[in-house]
Amino acid sequence: MKPYNFYAGPSILDPAVIHAANRALDNTNDLSILERSHRGKEVQTLFSQTKSMLKELMQLSDDFEILFLHGGARLQNCMVPYNICTKSSANYIDTGTWSTKSFEESVLIRDSKIIASSADKHYSYIPKELNWDGQGYLHITTNNTIHGTQFHNFECTSQGVVVADMSSDILSREMNFKAFGLIYAGLQKNLGTAGGTLVIIKKELLEDLPKVPSMLNYKQHVKNDSMLNTPPVFAVLMCKLVLDWMQKEGGLTAIENRNKLKSALLYDAIDSLDAFEGFAQKEDRSLMNVTFKLNDSSREESFNLLLKQENIIGLNGHRSKGGYRASLYNQLPLTHVEHLVKVMRKFSQM
Ligand SMILES: *Cc1c(COP(=O)(O)O)cnc(C)c1O
Repeated sequence: MKPYNFYAGPSILDPAVIHAANRALDNTNDLSILERSHRGKEVQTLFSQTKSMLKELMQLSDDFEILFLHGGARLQNCMVPYNICTKSSANYIDTGTWSTKSFEESVLIRDSKIIASSADKHYSYIPKELNWDGQGYLHITTNNTIHGTQFHNFECTSQGVVVADMSSDILSREMNFKAFGLIYAGLQKNLGTAGGTLVIIKKELLEDLPKVPSMLNYKQHVKNDSMLNTPPVFAVLMCKLVLDWMQKEGGLTAIENRNKLKSALLYDAIDSLDAFEGFAQKEDRSLMNVTFKLNDSSREESFNLLLKQENIIGLNGHRSKGGYRASLYNQLPLTHVEHLVKVMRKFSQM
């Protein structure tokens, strides 16, 4: 029987998306899109359709460029500091692992500083006080995949250029996407499979870029319409099929409502059952990655055994952190959370 998969990344995919991919790749009677030239109309159409769907879902104006690049979210950790607002120092909010890595890469490239951090409490919250003068750019990680915290307030975007790593919560909720200078996300969590990165960049930031090698240069990628080299066609195809699926599910509002329902159900179990304890501070809890532990850690082995018996996988916390983490990405159905909560109830009565 197919397991209940709460893995943090790559994410679960809806069967309808996989079926659509199978149909799209069938080459029995004709070439599939993976065999076609990226200069040809099929691939061009795929890219332009995917871009316009994203534009519509995110309500982006023509002031933004949309790119599909290689290298995952982590290549952006160096592309951003190489290219963006290079005349002032780069500012980072340190909310744990991924944001720390982003900062460490920037330090190699330019003057960079951490202007707020939640390291003092093991990254269990989102810092509210910012010490930023609006110069350079501010880098935030909107959802902290490993610690289970999430930004719910974006007042910082009114001050200057905000760059956001949205890898683990992109298109999980309505947001004012236009307020950001640059957004990036690996495609393998809410947008399909690994192999591609979505980058959305405000055109005005492209005006005054320094000289950097072409593969690291946003302007070069824009000029070449994401086809500076052979583009990640399969990852973009999967992204398009996920966006089709989102539309059928009722769009961003419907997805957000379901995400709220799923996370509320699980947090309610964590708060109401004696056996469990949440990690993140309540007001900063993530709707995507729910982190918790057992009140009595000596029972971990029996909880793990029960999870196995109940066909639940991917619930272990990140290797750096321990405890448990349930990832509730867009394509994870409510029934999976209902099953997990039932199992947690059962465990707390054992
Ligand atoms: C998964 C993840 C990454 C790493 O993404 P890659 O595409 O594997 O480089 C970076 N940031 C966040 C917030 C993530 O969740």
